[in-house]
Amino acid sequence: MDLKNRVRILNSQPVRLGARYVLYWAQMNRRVEGNHALLHAAELANSLDLPVLYYEGLTCSYPYANDRLHTFVLEGVPDTERRLRKLGIGYVFHLRRRQSDPDDALYRLAQDAAAVVTDDYPTFVAPRHNASVPAKVGVAYHAVDSSCVVPMGLFGKREYAAYTIRPKIRRVLGEHLVPPGPLKVRARFADPVASFHTTVDEARITRLVAECEIDHSVPPSISFRGGRTQAERRLERFVKDNLRRYSRHRNEPSAHATSDLSPYLHFGNISSLEVALRVREHASEHKLVADEYLEELIVRRELAFNFARHTPPPYTLECLPDWVRATLAKHGRDKRSPCYTREQFERAETHDELWNSTQKELLLRGKIHGYYRMYWGKKVIEWSAAHEDALSTMIHLHDRYALDGRDPNTYANILWCFGLHDRPWRERPVFGTVRYISLDGMKRKTDVGAYLAEIAQLERTGQDPFRLQ
Ligand SMILES: Cc1cc2nc3c(=O)[nH]c(=O)nc-3n(C[C@H](O)[C@H](O)[C@H](O)COP(=O)(O)OP(=O)(O)OC[C@H]3O[C@@H](n4cnc5c(N)ncnc54)[C@H](O)[C@@H]3O)c2cc1C
Repeated sequence: MDLKNRVRILNSQPVRLGARYVLYWAQMNRRVEGNHALLHAAELANSLDLPVLYYEGLTCSYPYANDRLHTFVLEGVPDTERRLRKLGIGYVFHLRRRQSDPDDALYRLAQDAAAVVTDDYPTFVAPRHNASVPAKVGVAYHAVDSSCVVPMGLFGKREYAAYTIRPKIRRVLGEHLVPPGPLKVRARFADPVASFHTTVDEARITRLVAECEIDHSVPPSISFRGGRTQAERRLERFVKDNLRRYSRHRNEPSAHATSDLSPYLHFGNISSLEVALRVREHASEHKLVADEYLEELIVRRELAFNFARHTPPPYTLECLPDWVRATLAKHGRDKRSPCYTREQFERAETHDELWNSTQKELLLRGKIHGYYRMYWGKKVIEWSAAHEDALSTMIHLHDRYALDGRDPNTYANILWCFGLHDRPWRERPVFGTVRYISLDGMKRKTDVGAYLAEIAQLERTGQDPFRLQ
């Protein structure tokens, strides 16, 4: 396996001699299969004749920690543990319930490690950890990109738009769109379980979440359960039922023709590389064209990672291109009518039934269909007192409610609503020359009535017929 361009060594500490294991710290990519970072940890361990220990934590103190995000992560834990045990890899899961509990599990485990290997990921808590931990951890610290098909490290600068990154991706795609190789460890992990390990079985999850000092006002998604098995099932359902109709129906929310994989990609339960390989394989067996899907999954998604990697922090209006900043400045004081507060948006209390339904989809499912998500974002801009307020409302709502939020895709796409990676259009109030989307356009192009009825039913019953068992 060639990990060139995926691995960054983030300190100058040596690999520790006489250690007990190589430690993999799953910060973002919570999976066993198709994980370049875990493969790198295994290669390192095999070269030192050591076992691998996989550590993942869930703390009560990350931004927006709530029942929805906690439940999704916890649902993946039994799966991960089972799969690691079969491979002979050790596993520690630590649930830090209270702010007053010690926050040192990683450092304690690192004391016996030859090296710490972790995820290289450009948003949420990972950039902060990867900037501060290497100097304090006392051992070699490697960050590995296992989120992108084409490693982020191959693109040395911020790309302007999809049309600039697309040819660069295509040029090297053949060498990266390949299975990452089998995960094999030579030495089995045999140490006793760490004292701070938290056992998670499905029946205990609700109780564990209730014990945590987190925001209990955001309930679990009614549609998505976390974990590898769920991700695999979603992928299989997509290739079998939806791939053949993706290009025609992906922009029709009530058709449910998309993959719904974004929460699993965000938490790393599955990788875009695994998804792309499976989709390509199914398309070739069944003589289908998968180009539109692969464009979203690879080009659009990796444009977002490229943006986040080269634009720290990737969530301010200052990140926007010059033409956008100029036109928004010109229209910053335009009159907004109607004009809503963040709380009104959050409670889905606008005059617009379609917009309210998209917000309710976010509140209930933890995700909005991609086509209406553009409408959702554009209207927050149109009806907020200032552009800055619109940005902070969108980020707040995604960070808090979206299972796929806090992702490079979150910030790049919210900023897309402000003109990022886009081009100028006809000038109009509030937006200037940034693209506008109208309700009439949505009514013309999609079955708004079917969507409204679907969301009303979700609200009434609290049950999603598209939930997988
Ligand atoms: C305002 C706004 C906010 C958004 N916030 C998020 C977010 O928080 N997290 C998120 O993953 N996506 C976000 N998107 C992009 C897109 O809406 C979602 O990726 C998509 O709806 C996820 O559903 P799916 O998995 O069924 O997509 P599919 O159509 O099945 O696509 C497969 C995968 O391709 C990628 N993809 C699809 N569309 C895009 C796109 N426009 N840009 C980049 N990658 C894409 C995603 O990883 C997606 O899971 C946002 C878009 C807008 C307009």
